[in-house]
Amino acid sequence: MDYRAKISLVREQIARSCERFGRQPNDVMVIGVTKYVGVEETRSLIEAGIDQLGENRVQTAFPKISQITEPVSWHFIGSLQTNKVKDVLPYFAWIHSLDRLSLAKELQKQADKHERTATCLIQVNVSGEQAKSGLSFEEVAPFLKELSGFDRVQVKGLMTMAPLVKDAEDVRPVFRKLRELRDFLLDSHPELIHLSMGMSGDFTVAVEEGATMVRLGSILVKP
Ligand SMILES: *Cc1c(COP(=O)(O)O)cnc(C)c1O
Repeated sequence: MDYRAKISLVREQIARSCERFGRQPNDVMVIGVTKYVGVEETRSLIEAGIDQLGENRVQTAFPKISQITEPVSWHFIGSLQTNKVKDVLPYFAWIHSLDRLSLAKELQKQADKHERTATCLIQVNVSGEQAKSGLSFEEVAPFLKELSGFDRVQVKGLMTMAPLVKDAEDVRPVFRKLRELRDFLLDSHPELIHLSMGMSGDFTVAVEEGATMVRLGSILVKP
């Protein structure tokens, strides 16, 4: 199947999930995760209609970013080392993995240097799996409070990675909890409009539970 066919299949599935839950398909951003493929495939994916691209590592991102001239937005979706912020920030429109104060400090510093804002999502470890990064549920509100002094760090929502499961229904509670946390925080933080959740195996469930960004790799780009 070519990229166009894959994209329209994914968009159809998103539309169906939206319909069931009274949502608008246009409110769901598809981020094509290109970490598995090189420059040529990434370019084909862009030509087929994807203009939001995700990468989880600096090393796999840069060869593409340096060679792709099309007007796309890059999303940094992996864990971010503090010493890599200065390399990442100039090229990425979104950081999905803000999870500690030291990282926020560096983002503030580098954003200040470039006279821009760092648009971020806070990564939350909803499932509590030890191997996963992200703040625990209870840590999110205090963290947001600590960030209020960082005028260049703009938090636009929450992100989570669900555990890998065979049946996506099993992770529905994870997505639901993230949305409930966001809804709870909305009163004091109306800027939290985004929920980045859902990958190839579980994005329809994530959309049903309120995802505004789905991060799709294998379903789009794996042969
Ligand atoms: C790789 C990756 C994805 C995409 O995963 P697929 O299952 O291939 O769609 C999404 N989010 C993050 C953080 C990733 O590292």
